[in-house]
Amino acid sequence: MDISVPGRIGIALPPLDVPEQPLPDAGKLREELSLPEVSQGEVIRYFTNLSQLNFSVDTNYYPLGSCTMKYNPKINNELASLPGFTEIHPLQDIETTQGALELMYDLQNLLANIVGMEHAGLSTVAGAHGELTGMLMIRAYHDSKKDYRRSIVLVPDSAHGTNPASAAMAGYTVMSIPSDKNGNMDIEILKSHCTEETAGIMLTLPNTLGLFDPNIVEICNYVHECGGLVYGDGANMNALLGRAHMSTIGFDVLHLNLHKTFSTPHGGGGPGAGPVLCNDRLASFLPTPIIAKNNDLYSLETPSASIGKIGGFHGNFGILVRAYAYIRSMGKQGMLDISENAVINANYILARLKDDYYLPYDRNCMHEVIFSAKPQRSKGVRALDIAKRLIDYGIHPPTMYFPLIVEEALMIEPTESESKDTLDYFISVMQEIAQEVESNPQILKDAPHNTPNTRLDEAKAARQPNLRW
Ligand SMILES: *Cc1c(COP(=O)(O)O)cnc(C)c1O
Repeated sequence: MDISVPGRIGIALPPLDVPEQPLPDAGKLREELSLPEVSQGEVIRYFTNLSQLNFSVDTNYYPLGSCTMKYNPKINNELASLPGFTEIHPLQDIETTQGALELMYDLQNLLANIVGMEHAGLSTVAGAHGELTGMLMIRAYHDSKKDYRRSIVLVPDSAHGTNPASAAMAGYTVMSIPSDKNGNMDIEILKSHCTEETAGIMLTLPNTLGLFDPNIVEICNYVHECGGLVYGDGANMNALLGRAHMSTIGFDVLHLNLHKTFSTPHGGGGPGAGPVLCNDRLASFLPTPIIAKNNDLYSLETPSASIGKIGGFHGNFGILVRAYAYIRSMGKQGMLDISENAVINANYILARLKDDYYLPYDRNCMHEVIFSAKPQRSKGVRALDIAKRLIDYGIHPPTMYFPLIVEEALMIEPTESESKDTLDYFISVMQEIAQEVESNPQILKDAPHNTPNTRLDEAKAARQPNLRW
C-alpha cells in the first residue's frame, strides 16, 4: 500500500501479563509478505477514500440507457436481510419454509398480473438466463409437436446482444431483421423471412431504440401465422409497468429483469433475477421449480413437460424478496406512476436536447431517448468523448454505441426517480458540452480530468481486472 511507513503500527496491545511463549513453529511465519504498515486512522481513510472513487447511483445521476439505474428503496434491502429470509436453506423441509414459498407464490402472481402474462417461474438469475430459458421452452414446444424443421429465430437488428447469443446457445440459427427508417421493424422484410422454418422471433418492447413499435400486434400475428412463437425481452418493462397486457399483444414468453425494473441495485455483475413468464401454451414447459398452492400448502412443482432445472435451487431468493417488497410498497398506482414518469422524463430530455444533438428518430420516445453525436463527430469529437466529459460534471455516461444501428449513439435513460432539477442540470451540462465541441474540442478529448485514471482499456479492464493495489 502506497501510504505504508516502516515501523508504523495500527494496534495497541495492553502490557503482557502472562509468561511470554515462543511461537509454535516459526517456519510458518511468511516473512516475504510485505504487509502495509499504517495506523488505524490511516487505514480507515485509505479504504473510505477508495470506496468513494466508485461511481454509483447513490452518489450521482446515472442515465445509463437500457440499464434502468433508478433509485432502489433501501427498505427493500433491509427486508431482504431479515433473518427469517436469510437463515433458511433451500433443502430445508418444506413445512418449515412455507412463508418463503408463499412470498414466491405471490410474486409469481404479482409479476404475471403487472405485465399481463398467465404463468411465471422465478428460478432464472439474469436477463440473458431468462432468454436462454425462453428459447429452450420454444424449442421444447416445437419438439412436442414433432415440428423439427423450425431452426431459425428472427431477431431485429436493434436487439440487445444477448438476444442472438441466447438463440444461438439454444441451437438456433439467427436471422437479423432490419429496422425501417422510423425505427420500427421492417414488416415487409419480416414477411419475406417468416417461413415453416421459423421457430420464433425475439422482440423487445419498447424496442432498444426506446420506441414503441405501433405494428407490434401485426408482427406477433404474422409470426404466429407462420407457426412461430414470440419471445419478449422485458428488460425495458419500466416503460410499460401496469399498462400493457403482453400476452394479449401476442407474446408467448417474456423475461423480466428484476435487477433493473424491480428494485435490485445492479452494476458490477452482482446477483440478479430474470423471471420467465408465459401464456397457457408454454406453461407446461417452464423450468422447475414452480411454486404451487394446494389446500393452503405451498409446494415446489415440476411442470408436466418442463425443460428441467436451469439453475441452483429456487433462484436468487434475496432478489425475489426485494421485488416483492417493492411491488407491495408501491402498490398498483405506484406501478402506473413508475411507467408514466419514466416516459415523461425521457421525453422531457428529448424535447430539450433535440436542437443540440441529432435525433435519429424524430418521434416521441418511451422510457429512454437515443441521440446521435454524428454532427459532433464531423468536428472531430466522438460520442465517447462526450460521455467522458460528463464524468467531469459528476454525471455517469449514458450507454454509448448501442444500439449498433445508430451511429455515435448516446442512449439516455433518466428513469422515474430523478427530480426535474436533476434532469435540468443534466440538460444544461449536455448543452454546455455541445458548446465546448465548438469552442474547445480538446477539453473533451482529454476528459475526464478529475478522476484518478483517465481513459482505460475498457475491454481489458472488464476481462482481466487487476484488483490489487
Ligand atoms: C440488460 C438487458 C438484457 C440482459 O440482461 P442481463 O441481466 O444483463 O443478462 C437483455 N436485453 C436488454 C434489452 C437489456 O437491457
